[in-house]
Amino acid sequence: MALCPYSSPSFLHLRHNRRNRSRPLVVRSLDAAQPFDLESQVSERLNSESKLKIAIVGFGNYGQFLARTFSAQGHTLIAHSRSDYSDAASALGASFYRDPDDLCEQHPDVVLLSTSILSAAQVLNSLPLGRLRRSTLFADVLSVKEFPRNLLLSTLPQDFDILCTHPMFGPESARHGWSGLPFVFEKVRIGESEERISRCNRFLEIFEKEGCRMVEMTCAEHDFKTAESQFLTHTIGRILARLGPEDMDIGTKGYQTLLELVQNTCNDSFDLYNGLFMYNKNATELLERLDFAFTELKKELFANLHDILRKQLFESSQQSNE
Ligand code: NAP
Repeated sequence: MALCPYSSPSFLHLRHNRRNRSRPLVVRSLDAAQPFDLESQVSERLNSESKLKIAIVGFGNYGQFLARTFSAQGHTLIAHSRSDYSDAASALGASFYRDPDDLCEQHPDVVLLSTSILSAAQVLNSLPLGRLRRSTLFADVLSVKEFPRNLLLSTLPQDFDILCTHPMFGPESARHGWSGLPFVFEKVRIGESEERISRCNRFLEIFEKEGCRMVEMTCAEHDFKTAESQFLTHTIGRILARLGPEDMDIGTKGYQTLLELVQNTCNDSFDLYNGLFMYNKNATELLERLDFAFTELKKELFANLHDILRKQLFESSQQSNE
C-alpha cells in the first residue's frame, strides 16, 4: 500500500523535531521508517523472486487448465503448441509462441511438457534445447511416469534438471479446486546448488499452495498403482460408454455414479486413454485380469443357470415317465 509521504511516521517525527529546536534532531526518526519501507521492499522482492517463468509445451485442454492456476498465482507464462492458441493464451495472461525457437529464447526457468503421451517424444525432439539456458528445469505432467522419465533422461543434456509429476486430477474432477487432490512427483535429477533446489521447490509449491496432497514416489511405483486405479477406471468408463447409458427417472444412485464415470472418463481424449495403455507396461496385465474376472463371473452365473435348468429338465422328464 502506498503511503502519503506527509503522513508517514518519519515525516511527522521530523516536523516535530523542527518545532523543538532545543532538542537535537533525532536522526533515529528517519531510521525508524526504514524497517517499515524495508519490510515491504523485502517482502515484494521475496515475492517476485519466488515467481517463475514457466513455458507450457502442449497448450491443449490440460495445459490451459494448469495455466489458469499458474497465472492466478502470478507466475510468468509462455506457451507453445502444435495448434495456434494465441487467443486462449492471451485470455490467460500468457504469451504464445508458434515457433519453438522463439519460446526457448525467452529462457524460461521451467519447461513443462503437457502434450499427449503419444506425441511426447516427437514434441520433445522438436525443441531447440540449445537455445534454452544451460540450467533449465524440465517437468512433465504425463499420466504415465516411467516413459517420460526415461525419455527425459535420454534426451536432455546432463545440465538440465528433471522433475516428473502427475497431478492426479483434471478439469472435471477438480472443478471445485485442487484442495486435497493427490499430486505425485519424483525428483528425478535436481542439481545440488541452492538455486536449482529452490527452483524445483518453488514449482512444487504451486501445487502445495492450492492444497494438493503431495505424494513423492518413484515413477515405477506410480505406474504400478495407476494401472490398478486410473487405467481400470478409464477402461470401465469406456466399456460402459459403448452401451450408451442414458439418464432415467428411476435411475438408482449406483446408476448415477456410472453415468458420472462415463462422463468423467470420456471427456478426456482417446489419445490420453490410449497412452495409459500403450505406455504403462502394467496395463496389459490389468486388461487380461479384467477379462479373466469377467469370464469367471459369467461362468458362475451360467453354471447356476445350468444347474437350475438341468434340475427342471430332469424333474419334468421324471414326472412324464410316472
Ligand atoms: P491429450 O489428448 O492427452 O493431449 C493433448 C495435447 O497434446 C495438446 O496440447 C495437443 O496439441 C498435443 N498433441 C497431440 N498430438 C500431437 C502431435 N502429434 N504433435 C504435437 N502435439 C500434439 O489431452 P490433455 O487432456 O490436454 O492432456 C495433456 C497431458 O496431460 C497428457 O500427457 C495427459 O496424460 C496429462 N494429464 C491430463 C489430465 C486430464 O485430466 N486431462 C490429468 C493429468 C495429466 P494441440 O492441441 O496443439 O494440437
